[in-house]
Amino acid sequence: MGYKKVCFNCRRSFNQGTDFTQMSEKECPVCREMMVHVSHRFRPPKHREIEKWKVAKYLIENGMNYHHVYDKIYSVDGIVCLQGYVNYPENMREAKEFVKKYKGQLDFLNR
Ligand SMILES: [Zn+2]
Repeated sequence: MGYKKVCFNCRRSFNQGTDFTQMSEKECPVCREMMVHVSHRFRPPKHREIEKWKVAKYLIENGMNYHHVYDKIYSVDGIVCLQGYVNYPENMREAKEFVKKYKGQLDFLNR
């Protein structure tokens, strides 16, 4: 389990690894803007794919931090069952629906 550090200003990602002594270092080494920690599952778009970067930023700002989102959540005898991973969207229209549909789920799982 690791995190990536992402700079949306210069559209770069840096592998965080699991070196926790480095965790407080949040400035982008290139532009000195503050970077965002994102799940290691985040697949950064290519540098020129500006639209995809905007979508990723929108998702992260809305709390969708590239952790797993599930197709179905149900409970059996009080045990929560998770089924089917949902892929993160790459365009803004889908991203807005995605946030609407799954934000509650992440809030629920992070409780
Ligand atoms: Zn930067």
